[in-house]
Amino acid sequence: MMHTIANSIKRGTATTKYPKAREAAPLSFRGKPVIDAGKCDACSRCADACPSRSIKVESRSIAVCIGSCVFCGACLDSCPKGAVTHSQAFELSSKDKEGLYERYEAGAK
Ligand code: SF4
Ligand code: SF4
Repeated sequence: MMHTIANSIKRGTATTKYPKAREAAPLSFRGKPVIDAGKCDACSRCADACPSRSIKVESRSIAVCIGSCVFCGACLDSCPKGAVTHSQAFELSSKDKEGLYERYEAGAK
């Protein structure tokens, strides 16, 4: 028992200080999908490829629901313009439903 306690004290704290100190997510981390509206032409391929139907394209307006996104990367792979990337963002909760949507206007800078 004393041996275990001594080892634990010697080893120190293994956990991070989150949320007081935030470490960057790993480079390969798939966080919130983000659309570069300037590159987007509203072709809808990302919406067609999305397995959770989290992307809606109506005319030039695109809405991505982060609440149902499963961070699979299909939208990124299907975009012919290279307009979709995964950000490093992982703190994605919201107090209201609208806060779960990211909205874009295709062609907007
Ligand atoms: S990452 Fe996957 S689930 Fe999320 S919006 Fe893109 S295709 Fe849909
Ligand atoms: S993000 Fe890419 S795949 Fe989705 S509507 Fe825009 S151009 Fe098309």
